[in-house]
Amino acid sequence: MTRRRWIADTWDEGTASLTGEQAAHLIRVLRAQAGMEYDIVAGNRVWHAVIAGIAGDAVRFNLVAEVEADPALPITLLLSIFKFDRLEWAIEKATELGVERIIPIIARRSEKHLVQSAEKRVERWRKIAREAAQQSRRSDVPKVEDVLPLKTAARQSSDAVRLLLAEQERSTTLRRAVEEALKNSGDEMPAIRMAVGPEGGWTAEEEALFDSEGWRPVGLGPRILRAETAAMTATSVVAALLE
Ligand code: SAH
Repeated sequence: MTRRRWIADTWDEGTASLTGEQAAHLIRVLRAQAGMEYDIVAGNRVWHAVIAGIAGDAVRFNLVAEVEADPALPITLLLSIFKFDRLEWAIEKATELGVERIIPIIARRSEKHLVQSAEKRVERWRKIAREAAQQSRRSDVPKVEDVLPLKTAARQSSDAVRLLLAEQERSTTLRRAVEEALKNSGDEMPAIRMAVGPEGGWTAEEEALFDSEGWRPVGLGPRILRAETAAMTATSVVAALLE
């Protein structure tokens, strides 16, 4: 029987607590009582936990024993700002698929009004990632970074293999690039960093910048995918090859 999994709001070495809407749901809808057993994610580790008590609107657990955690995949996704409902769908799918980190970036063709309100949406995106992590029984929540200008994100130093999802790219497929990374990384799993452009695609300057920063253009086939489809497809391909 798989115990339902919650992500703790606060914890220490032996106990964890849920507060806010998660606790309200557990108390009101699931009729929480002392002794009930759940999986609790605390500090990127998963615990078999037992409800110790309910105080006000907080549910306190005793952490009984650590259970096998399934770490995130070493995948960072740079997502250009595009229509929020579609971007949020992409964040949810990337979370389910195991990405470790999502960086919203401002591309030249990101719509201006979306860029203006993106900062205010990041907390909502973090909530979406958290809920998707919970639903997919992840033992961790992907980090959704603050919005970055494309230049900054493209230049960030990282030992990851950098792959630019380029809709015009025909010679190198994402699959081939990841298979090469796997070969070069010996027995450890290579970290992969991928960038997805906005609805309008990358500009020539952006492609040149990525190129100068060592990003390799890779294709997902001859069809032009929506940004959110490309984000999910690319993550699926990498996840399937890495796992
Ligand atoms: N304006 C472009 C489409 C951009 S699609 C056009 O109509 O030609 C948005 C983003 O999804 C692209 O910038 C790219 O990062 C990714 N993408 C879409 N289709 C892709 C493909 N076949 N291969 C690689 N990346 C793709």
